Amino acid sequence: MSYLCLLTKGLARKISETFMINIGLTGGIGSGKSTVAKLFQKRGAYIIDVDVLAHMVEEPGGIVWNRIVEYFGREILDKDNEIDREVLGGIVFRDSEKLEKLNSIVHPAVFDEWRRRFDNIGSRDEKAIIISDIPLLIEVGWHRAVDMVILVYTSPNVQAERIMERNGCSYEDARDRLNSQMPVDEKIPFADFVINNEGTPEETESIVDRVWKELLKKKRTE
Ligand code: ADP
Repeated sequence: MSYLCLLTKGLARKISETFMINIGLTGGIGSGKSTVAKLFQKRGAYIIDVDVLAHMVEEPGGIVWNRIVEYFGREILDKDNEIDREVLGGIVFRDSEKLEKLNSIVHPAVFDEWRRRFDNIGSRDEKAIIISDIPLLIEVGWHRAVDMVILVYTSPNVQAERIMERNGCSYEDARDRLNSQMPVDEKIPFADFVINNEGTPEETESIVDRVWKELLKKKRTE
């Protein structure tokens, strides 16, 4: 069991005893997580983007950066001493032991930072609906620490097309990235809400409206 699973086990109950709603938003790369997160934010949700936190804790000179460089060597750094995610990704993609090591360095730090943000929002708004955008929510076991899971769904073909357009990469590159992830269909059983984002932005917005109404109904008030 990963360190994160252990951390999150006791936390779910603790947070659910508060008035806040703690939601994990996930989906494959290019499925539309960021787009959907913005729509929820417009309606009043607080968003915590875990990718942003991961970048933050890995800033040059920090504890996490030091430990990564100590383990993987300086060849994973770019010319500005920042961690080159393409290079590091290439290393751990082929070596599960190294991936586990990387996760054991990064995940606890990200989780601590997430917790700090979560508590900070809670101290300002005790009835906050907090939606954390966590790409690997299910893979790393974080779904055990949230009250509800929202899955943004698009089929692999649509995902690939959107990644190609957004990142300007080839179809093969987009498919490679998709194939390295847990298939989105396997995530459906973990979800409390599935937002199908294959249609137009307007269609997605109306699904978000429906889900938001459900979340407001679930808001704990006593
Ligand atoms: P993720 O955060 O899951 O990686 P994004 O929200 O960045 O995905 O969406 C991937 C790309 O697809 C972006 O360029 C976004 O503008 C586009 N996109 C998202 N939803 C739709 C939609 N319903 N129709 C068309 N394009 C979309």
